[in-house]
Amino acid sequence: MTRTLTLLGATGSIGASTLDLVRRNRAAWQIEALTAQCSAAQLAALAIEFDARLAVVGDEACLPELRDALAGTGIAAAGGRAALIEAAARPVDMTVAAIVGCAGLAPVMAAVERGGTIALANKEALVSAGEVLMAAVARHGATLLPTDSEHNAIFQCLAGNRIADVARITLTASGGPLRTWSAERLHTATPAEAIAHPNWSMGAKISVDSATMMNKGLEYIEAYHLFPVGLDKLSIVIHPQSVIHSMVEFRDRSTLAQLGPSDMRVPIASCLAWPERMETPLGPLDLAAIGELTFHAPDEERFPATRLAREALAAGGAAPAILNAANEVAVAAFLAGQLRFTHIAALVEETLERSPLGAAPASLEDVLAIDQSARREAQRLLENPALVG
Ligand code: NDP
Ligand code: MG
Repeated sequence: MTRTLTLLGATGSIGASTLDLVRRNRAAWQIEALTAQCSAAQLAALAIEFDARLAVVGDEACLPELRDALAGTGIAAAGGRAALIEAAARPVDMTVAAIVGCAGLAPVMAAVERGGTIALANKEALVSAGEVLMAAVARHGATLLPTDSEHNAIFQCLAGNRIADVARITLTASGGPLRTWSAERLHTATPAEAIAHPNWSMGAKISVDSATMMNKGLEYIEAYHLFPVGLDKLSIVIHPQSVIHSMVEFRDRSTLAQLGPSDMRVPIASCLAWPERMETPLGPLDLAAIGELTFHAPDEERFPATRLAREALAAGGAAPAILNAANEVAVAAFLAGQLRFTHIAALVEETLERSPLGAAPASLEDVLAIDQSARREAQRLLENPALVG
């Protein structure tokens, strides 16, 4: 049976992995909408290849290029934030949410509000709007399928078990490309060095997040909202081989782990086929060739981001949204050569200290207002030479 699918963030890394799976199962899917921010030519080519009904660019300035590229194809073109949200609100069997950053939140919310089934890769949406988003999921009867590899692993380990029986959830972390660097050397890390991930091929922002360990911090907050076991039952372990994608320990001390190749097509396939399974083009896991799986505790002296995320989650209210917004500003500045690697976490911490925590956000609008004001604060700090130097 053919199912309809909308892919938010079609031109990115998760977008490419999703479309690779769809390409191999063309008869299984009818594409409703594909979206990008401004990669108009690439988006148009994908819309034509996959015979999408609609293609949308989030940046309206890129709409003329999209329109030109789609002229005569019969595929509708649209642009701007409202068009992105309208695309996400269209009824489909499956939405893959793969926009990067808090920019993906409003489209995710639109898909949630129509009670859709959403494969959620866009972790920043859940970090910024945790309570608001999960309340909307419950209110509208939406289904969130965790696509982030760790959360997908936990989701699989929990199947058939009761959340009340969970003693501990352990998120594994590769430690990123700079895992073994000294504090002094980290100070000089360049964008190229931070992006060169040993196990995963991903977009630039999440690659930097992996290098700072903020990715694991964001995932810790993500796990807190997806799996209601409480803060004291969430932990992180470094596992450089990225073979075990996460683990759940139950109260009888039985631990279930999910293993697989470090390729996002595995968790994406698990969401696309859920509750069934589908083929992927990946080879079997060869444990004898891998040889060794190792584990050690995170070092929060060199990589303070997980501590910041934990503290933001414990502080509650606006803190996680502020953490996320400041991190987005800091990572963009680092990638642009305006901020040192070690100052990413410093900028996040300083923004959190200077931002009023206020009341917990109660709506999408509240979250977006907190996001905007935290971005302004982080931007002001960027201009402070004492921090940026
Ligand atoms: P990419 O940077 O590769 O792709 C991002 C996508 O979002 C592109 O299609 C981009 O369009 C679009 N986009 C960017 N900014 C905006 C905006 N302001 N409004 C609307 N669309 C926008 O990111 P990834 O695919 O790596 O990551 C996507 C999400 O999935 C992130 O939240 C990430 O944390 C998460 N994730 C990714 C993993 C990975 O392996 N890559 C693993 C686990 C989670 P354009 O091309 O026009 O810029
Ligand atoms: Mg992950």
